[in-house]
Amino acid sequence: MTISEIRSFFPVLNQKVYDKPLIYFDSAASAQKPVQVLMCEEKLHNDFYGNIHRGAHFMADKATIEFENVRTKVAEFINAPHREEIIFTKGTTESINLVAFSFCEAFLNEGDEIIVSEMEHHANIVPWQLAAQRKKAKILKLPFNDSGILEIEKLAELISEKTKIVAVTHVSNVLGTINPVNEIVKIAHQKNVPVLVDGAQAVPHLKIDVQEIGADFYAFSAHKMYGPNGVGMLYGKKEWLEKMPPYQGGGEMISEVSFEETTFNELPYKFEAGTPHISGVIAFGAALRFVEEVGFDSIRKHETELLKLATAGLKQIPGIKIYGEAPEKSGVISFNIEGIHPYDLGMLLDKSGIAVRTGHLCADTVMQHYQIGGCLRISFGIYNTVAEVETFLATFNKIRLMF
Ligand code: PLP
Repeated sequence: MTISEIRSFFPVLNQKVYDKPLIYFDSAASAQKPVQVLMCEEKLHNDFYGNIHRGAHFMADKATIEFENVRTKVAEFINAPHREEIIFTKGTTESINLVAFSFCEAFLNEGDEIIVSEMEHHANIVPWQLAAQRKKAKILKLPFNDSGILEIEKLAELISEKTKIVAVTHVSNVLGTINPVNEIVKIAHQKNVPVLVDGAQAVPHLKIDVQEIGADFYAFSAHKMYGPNGVGMLYGKKEWLEKMPPYQGGGEMISEVSFEETTFNELPYKFEAGTPHISGVIAFGAALRFVEEVGFDSIRKHETELLKLATAGLKQIPGIKIYGEAPEKSGVISFNIEGIHPYDLGMLLDKSGIAVRTGHLCADTVMQHYQIGGCLRISFGIYNTVAEVETFLATFNKIRLMF
């Protein structure tokens, strides 16, 4: 698919903001949605909306079939061995909270340890801290170096008989680093420790094979991969999920309820309490089909080209500091320029039609590593162009000269 074909599916990009053509460089926060996804959600509401699983009529049955087809599609998309290992959630944050609550309820005890990397989004730190507080356990940090590379050689030393789980991101939302998750899993598994991988920033860019990675849990959101917001998934190995208690109660997660006792439904329903985001899940299927149609080889090639061009251009600007220079990076560049506050830069770029992200990027531990309060991030999606990168660099240069 050519870039202009791809862009034709995103009419939202063909607009002006503040009278300037929009350049959307904030896909790592949330990606725009192609018409295929928008139409899919609309079609459900126009044609066959009904509540799923327990309906006794045509529309409920049709919605249930479509919903469950997406579960099969997600399982195929990440090469999960069993479709019942796919649990629909609100997003990555809820997926991680589910594991942090339920896994830790079953397996974490006083004095135990959880290893979390230093480059995590808050969504992969705070749920573990809450669990650790509840169980009087400890969080240990797996550090990264100044280039933004995880020091995985330290992992084996950090793991002890007290370690219950390792939580690590596949791709950093600040540094862009693509972590060698296969190796991390191998090291942890040698010591019989399970691993949760946060795939929020990986799925839009890389072909994921959970069997090849070997992760015990893998989480991601639909909205970062051109799907609807409010939907995500958790993949968990059956042998863990079966031993874990429910996370929330009500709805489809029960088998039988009396005032004395409740028995729980089988996987995956045990973890899907209440009416889920039915239209969102069904449109998630359309996003998966769209991404597959574009193809991960083309996505990676295109985004790498944009990354190289933008990095080389930024590096020529005096006073630039880029955070994260790992050899394997996704299309994310976080940086600061000496003497200018990132909020001021972000605001002026916005007024020039360029949407970027500023602040701590929900990754305070990364900010603390570099001893900064915040930074500016540009991030690319499949719809961004070389011309947009060139316009960004020229605009950025003009803005910095104003200070
Ligand atoms: N993990 C990473 C690496 C992220 O970048 C994000 C969002 O930016 C999240 C988790 C949280 O995702 P969500 O807000 O979709 O739950």
